Amino acid sequence: MRSALLLLTFAAALAAQTHKLVDAHVHHNGEVKFLDELVARLEKHDGIAFLLVKPAHLKQVTAYMAKHPGRLIGFGDVELDDPNVLAHIDTFHKAGFRGLGEISRTRKDYNDPAYTPIYDRASQYGMMLLFHTGIVNRGRPDLAEDVSVDRLRVTLLDNIARRYPKTTIIGAHLGNPDYAWAGEIARWNPNLYFDLSGSTLIKKQEEPTFFKSIFWWSSVASPHTPKSQVSAFEKVIFGSDVFGGEIREFDDSIDRYKRMLTACGVSPEAQANIFGGTLRRILATGK
Ligand SMILES: [Zn+2]
Repeated sequence: MRSALLLLTFAAALAAQTHKLVDAHVHHNGEVKFLDELVARLEKHDGIAFLLVKPAHLKQVTAYMAKHPGRLIGFGDVELDDPNVLAHIDTFHKAGFRGLGEISRTRKDYNDPAYTPIYDRASQYGMMLLFHTGIVNRGRPDLAEDVSVDRLRVTLLDNIARRYPKTTIIGAHLGNPDYAWAGEIARWNPNLYFDLSGSTLIKKQEEPTFFKSIFWWSSVASPHTPKSQVSAFEKVIFGSDVFGGEIREFDDSIDRYKRMLTACGVSPEAQANIFGGTLRRILATGK
C-alpha cells in the first residue's frame, strides 16, 4: 500500500516536470503543417515553444499565432552579418517577438565589436539571445563556406553576458564539446543559461552522471561563492532543437533530458524549473 502510494507520488512528480513545459529551441521549417504538429505536441504538456523564425516566414507565423494564441513565442532568426539585420530586428520586435536566434555561422567571433549595434538593439528591446555554441554541421560538404567553429566558441558568450547584464542569453548545445567552460561561465553569469540539445546527451548516454562534474556546485560553498539552495543544474533549460520539421525530436529530447536528470539525482522541483519554470519566470519578469 505504502509503495503504491510512493509510486503514485513519483508518477505525479514526473508528470509535473513537463507540465507547463517551455521548449527554448524549435526551428520553423516554413510549413503551416509543422506549426499544427508543434502546437498539438505543446498542448499535451500545456507548453509553449520559442519558435525560431526567418524573416521570410514572419508574416505566415504572426498570422498563425493570432489564430493559435498562447503556445508560440517568436524569436527572430537573423544573421548577424546581414546588412539589413537591424531593420529585421525592428520588424520582429514590432511583431511581438521576444528574442533573437538561433545566432550561428557568423563571419566574426560572437563578441566582435562589429556586432555591438545588434546586441545594443536587442537589449533596448529586452529581447533574449539564443546562440549556437560549439561544433556546427556541414550540410553541403561539396560547397565552399566561410564558417568556423572557432567563432562560435562558448567562452565568447562570457563577454556578451557581462556587457549586457539585463539580457537573458541562452547558449545552445552546452558548448559541445567545451562543457566544462559552459558550466563555469554559467555559474558566474546569472543571465546565462544553456540547453542540452544536439548530440551531447546521445554521446554521453552511457555515462549520464558525467554532468554532475559540470554542474558541481549545488550546495557547495567555495571561495567567492556562498552556499546556495539552488541546484547547479538549474543553469540548464529545456530545448529540443527540432529542425526541418522533425517533430519526433521533441519527444526524444524530453526523454533524454529526463534520463540524464534522474540519473544525476536532480530534484523534481529543479527539473520543473529546467523544463519551463525558469523561462516562464524570465518571460514574466525579464530576469
Ligand atoms: Zn545550434
